[in-house]
Amino acid sequence: MKKILLWIVGVAFSIAVLLCGIFSYWYFGATNYVLTGVPVLNYHQVNNKFSTCLTMKPENFAEQMKYLHDNDYHAITQAQFDAYMRNEGDLPDRPVFITFDDGYVDNYEQAYPIMKKYGMKGTIFLVINLMNTPGYLTWDQVTEMSQNGMEFGSHTISHKPLTSFDQAGVHRELTESKAVIEGYLGKPCTYIAFPEGKFNDMVLAETKAAGYEYGFTVETGRDFPWDDHYDLDRVPMFEGPVSFKHFQFRLTFSAFSAILWKTHKYFEHMELTNTLAAHIPQP
Ligand SMILES: [Zn+2]
Repeated sequence: MKKILLWIVGVAFSIAVLLCGIFSYWYFGATNYVLTGVPVLNYHQVNNKFSTCLTMKPENFAEQMKYLHDNDYHAITQAQFDAYMRNEGDLPDRPVFITFDDGYVDNYEQAYPIMKKYGMKGTIFLVINLMNTPGYLTWDQVTEMSQNGMEFGSHTISHKPLTSFDQAGVHRELTESKAVIEGYLGKPCTYIAFPEGKFNDMVLAETKAAGYEYGFTVETGRDFPWDDHYDLDRVPMFEGPVSFKHFQFRLTFSAFSAILWKTHKYFEHMELTNTLAAHIPQP
């Protein structure tokens, strides 16, 4: 009798563990954006020239775009993201919003052809003062990409953190960069990525007043309609060599790993838990 009871408990326990596993995958996995949010991938450079924490090799980037394509992910546009954030439209299955910061010339030379090959689109956040300078995009390249489905946003005029300016300076960084991009492309510029992800209350108020609808940081996580539209998380694809396994993990489980990242950050800021933070992995 005792044996049978133990057996039943054992089986029930196994089933519970299995169901927890299935639930976790379903809940935290990539496919249910309604439950797990939309991953906004954040890239910078795609080239073979440098190997800084911002650089990804073209072959690795291609492998990632191929994976998205082969696994039925859909790169969404700014309009689709906007509709989702306003609860005004369904997204395709497995949505992913691909973004690049800083406007490196390799976004045009390397990333763009790869994205075209796999039917992917994305948004590049431009730094106005760096445009047409060595290593960065030209307005001709931006215009060409804009005509072929790539989209753009502001990464300010100077790329200095907006928190380092007074109100007039913030106003200028926000409104002038927006006006320049709109002038070249003839399309509204309503997306911004804050340099170094930094903002404060004044910056947020100015961002709204300037007519931006969405502001992105460099915090890790996915985005939901109920999130603050000016404090949006992304999934980093830029600290050092992001291996293909990292990419897959971050893409699939960023909803879960974001919790680890946030705990890590939170602990890091408090003296008492500072040392503890080092032991929380940042996958
Ligand atoms: Zn940047």
